Amino acid sequence: MPETGAPSRLPTNQVFDVLVIGGGITGAWTALDCTLRGLSTVLVEKADFGSATSMRSSRLLHGGIRYLQQLEFGKVRESSRERSFLTRSAPHLVKHIPFVVPTYPGIRQGRAFLYSGMLAYRILALGTSAVLRDPATRAPSDRGISRQAIKDQGLIHDEAITGGRILYEAQVHSSERMTLGVIERARASGAVALNYAVMDHYRITDNKVSGVWVRDLIDGEAGEIRSQIVINAAGPWCDHVNQTASLHRLNTGFARGAHILTRALLNHYAVALPSAFQSDGLATRGHRHVFVIPWRNRSLIGTSYMESDEPSDSLVPTDSEISQLVDTVNSGLPQAKLSHNDVLQSFVGYYPLQSASIRQGVYQGTGEYRLVDHALTDGTEGLVTALGAKFTTARRLGEMAAQLAEKKIGRTAHSRRYPTRNVQIQGGDIADLASFQKRMLEKYSGLWSESTCRYLISCYGSRIHEIAKLCRDRPALNRPLAKSQDTIAAQVVYAATSESVMHLTDILLRRTDLCLLGHPGDPVLNDCAELAAATLGWSENQRLAELELIRTELARSIPAAPTE
Ligand SMILES: Cc1cc2nc3c(=O)[nH]c(=O)nc-3n(C[C@H](O)[C@H](O)[C@H](O)COP(=O)(O)OP(=O)(O)OC[C@H]3O[C@@H](n4cnc5c(N)ncnc54)[C@H](O)[C@@H]3O)c2cc1C
Repeated sequence: MPETGAPSRLPTNQVFDVLVIGGGITGAWTALDCTLRGLSTVLVEKADFGSATSMRSSRLLHGGIRYLQQLEFGKVRESSRERSFLTRSAPHLVKHIPFVVPTYPGIRQGRAFLYSGMLAYRILALGTSAVLRDPATRAPSDRGISRQAIKDQGLIHDEAITGGRILYEAQVHSSERMTLGVIERARASGAVALNYAVMDHYRITDNKVSGVWVRDLIDGEAGEIRSQIVINAAGPWCDHVNQTASLHRLNTGFARGAHILTRALLNHYAVALPSAFQSDGLATRGHRHVFVIPWRNRSLIGTSYMESDEPSDSLVPTDSEISQLVDTVNSGLPQAKLSHNDVLQSFVGYYPLQSASIRQGVYQGTGEYRLVDHALTDGTEGLVTALGAKFTTARRLGEMAAQLAEKKIGRTAHSRRYPTRNVQIQGGDIADLASFQKRMLEKYSGLWSESTCRYLISCYGSRIHEIAKLCRDRPALNRPLAKSQDTIAAQVVYAATSESVMHLTDILLRRTDLCLLGHPGDPVLNDCAELAAATLGWSENQRLAELELIRTELARSIPAAPTE
């Protein structure tokens, strides 16, 4: 938190071209695209950047094969292409995970059907990874795996299995740092981005939106920020935001999707386990799957599914959501013997639903983003809603929203058309990942162990030099903070100095992963609070309040085992 008496953060004396509401991945790409088109842009986020749905996903950049079974061929290609753009924008943040897709006797689950599906996918996705000039960043081809190998690895316990294929999906090391990296890149190009600044209501005159009323949650200031166009990228909260202008709703309901993080259950493979929930896919045998995905030497397990009327601000799973996941794992992987005690961390996010009638217990997430010009739907000029459906396609939605804003302002003549297709986010300017890693390991061999150096590359990419400089200038910061983690004290100080930190939770859950991967223990929390307090000039009372905040957050998201 900044010192009191600091000048107001709210830019109330300027008229921007575009104001973006929401600093999740959709708002982040929208702000970057607008900025690179030369539009003056401001973004307001009511909490921390990327702290809502965007940090509660399965962390996959979908290659699009999931849309093949819904016969959505356009989406297959779009998803695959977007995966490539995102990978190129931040190669250090993306890796490929092998998913085991089993085959069974019969036609729709059989080997020939699966192989034909993979073939169709390869044809549909042809050329979409051409933008990835660095071969190390391309997804490996799918390959077969025998029934025996699946059994030997303990991957799936089903005697009916006849074999399977391995399909590679891209995984984001840190969605939190990817969202921040996009925002930092927008800032570097001139955007203003404020976290902990909540949009209260629209400024409307003669059916035209010309800005928003914003409250700064850090210093309590409030004021109007004016803009020619407002883009509502508030994710599941977009209707709530639009209600302040009595606009029609986009969503008919919501579904909660929970994940739990546990000890590693499988080696390096990801598997899909059938759950009690139904879905409409062609090859899923009517069951929605729960995925067990390797992530950060642990297993990320999700998602559960539960309908909900409105998205809440409290994004922690209920006991029953956690039980759904634990039970599904224990029935699909009995050797796991999972219990609530194994839950290291848990998250919940909301899928916006748009079906005319919500069918109870049937997964109806469409993966379909929406871009709405409210001049056409409500007769309200100057307002666009960009409702994201996938982390993977957020860049594309941001691009379309920026194009629409540019058109509405009447500035199309002077701009480049697709500026974010070639962009590298902060830290992502790495042409050849393997040789970059090799050079960094050599250069910093005297400073860090190989494992710490690799970890820091995956967090900061080309900005690793800034962490190295801090460690050289202040050697006392070059020390690990928690046992069996590579996070070092310099990262806390770097975050507090250079990464828009307002609260200790921002450092522990998003700039670093000290609390994202489980409870690091009270001594680590105290250590980090002291480092942050010294860097940000917090008073003793503030330091204690920040500690209380993170302890409360952890108590909610890391549940104790229910008493028998
Ligand atoms: C369980 C689950 C798993 C998923 N898994 C995947 C996956 O593996 N791969 C994938 O591609 N996609 C996945 N998705 C989808 C993906 O996570 C979302 O589409 C994406 O994160 C949405 O981003 P967003 O920016 O639109 O929304 P959000 O991240 O929710 O951002 C909206 C922001 O608006 C802010 N806001 C709201 N109201 C206001 C206000 N009044 N003033 C200022 N700010 C405001 C919120 O605080 C929030 O930060 C998953 C989704 C769920 C729910």
